Amino acid sequence: MYDKATNETINHYFKVHGIYTDRCLEPTEKCQQPAIRSHSIPCGTVLGQLSYEGHVVMAQMKLKVPPPNIIEFKYIGRNKATTFSGLCGQHDNDIFRSIDDRLPDLSDQTHLFLLAYRAVLREYYVVLQNAVRFQSTYRKRVELGLSPGTEPCKFGMFALSHLCNAYECYEYKRHIDLAYLAGDWSQLNHHVLLIKNQSPSIAVSSMFSLDEVDAPETPRVTLSVFPTESDVAVVFSAIPSDSPYVDTYLHRLLTSESYLQKYLLSKLILQSCDNFVIDPQYYDSMPQDRKDAICQFYVNTILETAEDHEDARLYLF
Ligand SMILES: [Zn+2]
Repeated sequence: MYDKATNETINHYFKVHGIYTDRCLEPTEKCQQPAIRSHSIPCGTVLGQLSYEGHVVMAQMKLKVPPPNIIEFKYIGRNKATTFSGLCGQHDNDIFRSIDDRLPDLSDQTHLFLLAYRAVLREYYVVLQNAVRFQSTYRKRVELGLSPGTEPCKFGMFALSHLCNAYECYEYKRHIDLAYLAGDWSQLNHHVLLIKNQSPSIAVSSMFSLDEVDAPETPRVTLSVFPTESDVAVVFSAIPSDSPYVDTYLHRLLTSESYLQKYLLSKLILQSCDNFVIDPQYYDSMPQDRKDAICQFYVNTILETAEDHEDARLYLF
């Protein structure tokens, strides 16, 4: 998959960085404070508007022994929803206060950058957790004699693929870190949509990659969705080198009329995003077969997308 030097670089990186998974991932990489559980979707504004009796609805893994595990959409406390341990309290506040205390201003390039930056930080935190977890499990297998450790096996390759993914995500994050430190907001391009007269039903803060796109490096895009006063704001962000691929990928969605646009956006969220909340009152108002269709599509597209799958029940608005 990678040449020897790249593998050694990745191994070195994990020796240096992978041990402490609760470290603050702030952009100067100097902070020694432990990370706190901070919200990737602002609690006071967005979650406050979407929650009902202190709860929102999220996709959750229901661990089962033996596997397979089950995904279900369930109520989760607003204070816990969408949190991740990627920043200390000071850095979370210093970096994101301007989009936490009030709703982001869609005409402010700093706010648009910060929306994407938070999705990048959260994604990096998630893939780092996974990489460390799978590598640790693989090492345990080697220790117990269940994997050879001296030659490739499927468990070792699985762990390695997650290490590589985390390393690539780290390189992407560093690009955004350095842009943030320089105040260079031009390092992200945005598409901003306003869904007019739309009552709030969901919020999203997620980053995903366009794995099917033929490009030298897999393009990535962040998506933020949040309710404004009477509309719903949708922001896609990408680095300049990924933008041509992202623009092509989003063309149909960006140019569709309202009803189709909401359908395409719902499908994209369900198949590509892992960090979104649904208003419980909106969710509870859906007929059961619609809830089932949404959950099934979410599960079916965890490992691969299903662009051709059409189902009129897959609406999140
Ligand atoms: Zn910090």
